Amino acid sequence: MIGICENCGNNYDKAFIVVIDEEEHIFDSFECAINKVAPRCHHCHTPIIGHGIEFEENFFCCGRCAKSASTHIAAHSVTYGTTRILLS
Ligand SMILES: [Zn+2]
Ligand SMILES: [Zn+2]
Repeated sequence: MIGICENCGNNYDKAFIVVIDEEEHIFDSFECAINKVAPRCHHCHTPIIGHGIEFEENFFCCGRCAKSASTHIAAHSVTYGTTRILLS
């Protein structure tokens, strides 16, 4: 398959498609895919390539960032996978 990476514009015969919400995105590398479509931490804007933390529809890279943001939203804990993290 030949495709042009939507992140860097490289035309590469081993490009691949990532489907998100039924929308197709073409990339030449995982690095480009991460830069373009990985969720970013709501606090520090780092791309989240692991599970991250989802809290009140925002994504965070780690508990510390979730805690920093939570001072504005008065949270006491966040759920990280199956683990509950206490913030106070
Ligand atoms: Zn690329
Ligand atoms: Zn962060």
